[in-house]
Amino acid sequence: GSVSVSVLGLGMMGSALASALLDAGHRVTVWNRTFARTGPLADRGAVAVRTAAEAVAASELVILCLLDNGNVREVLDSLGEEAAGRTLVNLTNGTPRQARDLAVRAAGRGARYLDGGIMAVPQMIAGPAAYVFYSGDEKAFGEYESALAAFGGAQFVGADAGFAALYDIALLTGMYGMVVGVLQAFALARTENIPATEVAGPLTDWVGAMLTGARPWAEAIDSGEHLTDVSSLAVNHAAVPNFVETFRDQGLDPAFFEQLQKLLERGIERGHGADGLSRLADLLKK
Ligand code: NDP
Repeated sequence: GSVSVSVLGLGMMGSALASALLDAGHRVTVWNRTFARTGPLADRGAVAVRTAAEAVAASELVILCLLDNGNVREVLDSLGEEAAGRTLVNLTNGTPRQARDLAVRAAGRGARYLDGGIMAVPQMIAGPAAYVFYSGDEKAFGEYESALAAFGGAQFVGADAGFAALYDIALLTGMYGMVVGVLQAFALARTENIPATEVAGPLTDWVGAMLTGARPWAEAIDSGEHLTDVSSLAVNHAAVPNFVETFRDQGLDPAFFEQLQKLLERGIERGHGADGLSRLADLLKK
């Protein structure tokens, strides 16, 4: 059924979320610090209000999508009684600790709290590949799951409000690792004027093939059994100096591989030379 939903924050992402809610037939109220940004949504039938408090008062379900959680805290602190009985769904990017803190603050105002991590860019919202991790108040999630489905998939990952941010950061950590690796491969090719486009094809295939290792690594990490028939820490430890040397010789910063070599050394010092690369996950622990 149709739900009344307020969206606070109409940047690129917040606007896409509000738009998806309108498309799904919900009654939408919008607020943005810079009021002019409410125009396009008001034209499509959203009610634009001048203060965050009015927006929270208007709807049972309140979506927040601001630049950072400092902004979310400011908005929460600016409220009076309006938040009581509301369900706040914070889709602002942040840390697990921030999410837990906001959950406590929301509870202090009599509101239920869900935190979310959006796995999509604004253009993907409401499309088949978009989904959002949610954590926090499980009952509230159950009640509003069908409304939240306007954004795409909705995956609940735990009653601990910090878990959505943890999943979000974990997935983006994998992405950034890939980005850093791929861009360094291109940089290396360019040191000899090899077009990056010539490397792109084989690189895409190779990184894709290697990613099939993620599941067996995950099983090794969960079980603590890191023995390998692929390549051991000792074999990698012998090879990585070639990467450091190549990067230096080609005039590039080898910091990434120096870091990897440090981890490999730690593993060998601790007697894990025969283990597979999955062992490195343990060795990150401080
Ligand atoms: P934008 O920069 O487009 O929008 C930022 C929003 O935050 C605007 O509505 C802005 O208001 C508001 N804002 C900034 N500072 C304050 C403040 N002090 N008080 C009140 N409102 C404030 O960012 P996005 O919409 O792209 O991103 C929003 C959130 O969504 C971020 O946390 C981002 O990490 C997350 N996200 C974004 C994705 C993307 O691809 N864009 C993907 C996944 C998550 P104003 O218009 O007045 O400046």
